[in-house]
Amino acid sequence: MCGIVGYIGDENAYKVLIGGLHRLEYRGYDSAGVALVSPEGHLNVYKARGKVSNLENFCKDKNTDGLVGIAHTRWATHGEPSDCNAHPHFSEDGNIALVHNGTIENYKILKDALMEHGCKFHSETDTEVLVQLIEYIRINNKCSLVDAVREALRQVVGAYAIAVIEKNNPDTIIAARQSSPLVIGIGDNDFFLASDATPFVEFTDNVVYVEDGQIAVIKRGEPLKLLDLDNRESTVDVKKLQISISQLEKGGYPHFMLKEIFEQPETLRDCIRGRVVDNGRRVILNGVLDNKERFLKAKRIVLVACGTSWHASLLGKYLLQDMCKIPVTVEYASEFRYSNPVLDENDIVIAVSQSGETADTLAAIKIARSMGAFVYGISNVVGSSIPRETHSGTYIHVGPEIGVASTKAFTGQVMVLTLLAICIGHLKGLLSDHEVERLGHHILQIPDYVKRTLELNESIERLSLIYTYARNFLYLGRGYSYPVALEGALKLKEISYIHAEGYPAAEMKHGPIALIDSEMPSVIIAPKDHLYDKIVNNVQQVKARGGNIIAIVSDGDETISGIADHVLKVPDMPECLTPIITSIPLQLLSYHIAINKGKDVDMPRNLAKSVTVE
Ligand code: GLU
Repeated sequence: MCGIVGYIGDENAYKVLIGGLHRLEYRGYDSAGVALVSPEGHLNVYKARGKVSNLENFCKDKNTDGLVGIAHTRWATHGEPSDCNAHPHFSEDGNIALVHNGTIENYKILKDALMEHGCKFHSETDTEVLVQLIEYIRINNKCSLVDAVREALRQVVGAYAIAVIEKNNPDTIIAARQSSPLVIGIGDNDFFLASDATPFVEFTDNVVYVEDGQIAVIKRGEPLKLLDLDNRESTVDVKKLQISISQLEKGGYPHFMLKEIFEQPETLRDCIRGRVVDNGRRVILNGVLDNKERFLKAKRIVLVACGTSWHASLLGKYLLQDMCKIPVTVEYASEFRYSNPVLDENDIVIAVSQSGETADTLAAIKIARSMGAFVYGISNVVGSSIPRETHSGTYIHVGPEIGVASTKAFTGQVMVLTLLAICIGHLKGLLSDHEVERLGHHILQIPDYVKRTLELNESIERLSLIYTYARNFLYLGRGYSYPVALEGALKLKEISYIHAEGYPAAEMKHGPIALIDSEMPSVIIAPKDHLYDKIVNNVQQVKARGGNIIAIVSDGDETISGIADHVLKVPDMPECLTPIITSIPLQLLSYHIAINKGKDVDMPRNLAKSVTVE
């Protein structure tokens, strides 16, 4: 995680960097810092624990002049969140400053070796070793900054996106990447660099996505140069950026999370556009149709993901098994890689990640590719690593998601997985034209159904007041509603810090039922589907033990509505399409509970959005 930013040009670097850090704050907010080369030739480094606004306060009476600088917002991996562990780290002689996103796995060996040579360390981070090593090489080899960075990176094992500046070399930034994202923006008279393109959208739409193993030499007044660790130059491929500034603002909502929840009718429309055509008669996913043979011969599908994307993937399993009759397994990316996976060329691995940068998912992709599997990516961020490292894939196209708790990306992922299942099922002849049309017709109406469901907001806000101080929650669902229950529980945990467990409703009687009492509310997701009668029993079981029930049911529901304490009715849909609708009230419930508790919903403690460390 962590966000890095860099700037060199004619503007005040501090302003650009602080603006950029605010945009990247979703990636971590343990501390923030900035390093600037002042016009007098000083390297000014300022850092503060906590959010970017703390850094701004700290810098109020400081000299923030300078046309070149680097900055960082941290999600700590090595060393507690503190001023001294905050980036930028600088070299012993105060000449070189560096920011880093990632982890240096062999930092201990390097640190011990440097200490034997008399080098002193001032932080507990893995990062500081990099800047000290660069300085050591620069002095001892009497080489240029770029040569020192390259030599240092050759000795490093781990993941990094770094940016380095030097006091005596104020017209240059050296940046590099290995397994952590790095994008360079090219303006008319300036260069920007960042973990994603959001810090510089208002300045330029010309971007270069730095590849693993590349070092970027960014010099004022000179074209951008990309080198590899063997000093070979590669061509610079400039791409056009496709995000607008309005997508990065709150647009009148108090929080990004609420804005993103309410955007879902639109984001789902964008996700479906061009994919469900002819009035719903055809579902087209080019990533599948261009690789028809691979999908037709697939003997197994393995979905790999983390967090909310894992819940979407679990829904993918129900959808794909239902419509394509292919066995599907769903793996946590972080476990997959250490589980001795057995894959071959008849397997399809589908990697799901909002950011397209999730470190564990990227590692899983590498393993899958090396074993001959066909790898398909589902991500949101255009140009991110997953779409570049997979054979094919689909973007969810829901626009930048800034709230750390994922909402619109989840429904976008579920939508793409639904389209994927329909497309493959149709290709295999398992779904008739008629069935595709029936589902396609309903999918086209989902944005409107989501809009109607959002009208529950006020009732959910009132309901949230009753349960704000509950200490535990149970979320129950069966079939397609089980992954929705898991996602609902995760949403509540993430932003309100209330312990919540998602459970298959029928499993409840094998343990969690013991927890039920009047203090522990159960949220039961029970739309009209083929398991409805079964879940009625589970609702009765909770009620019989004195539990309070919040039920999400379909319009027209009577049975559960007669038993539950609170009922939220959502539009009736074909069973496989219900998750997108039933997850909406759960997003709103967690939002309002967290707000009642005074929590920072957009930046919950200890979390960061894009998990680019293992
Ligand atoms: N490992 C570095 C630190 O703890 C960077 C962390 C990150 O990129 O998440 O400071």
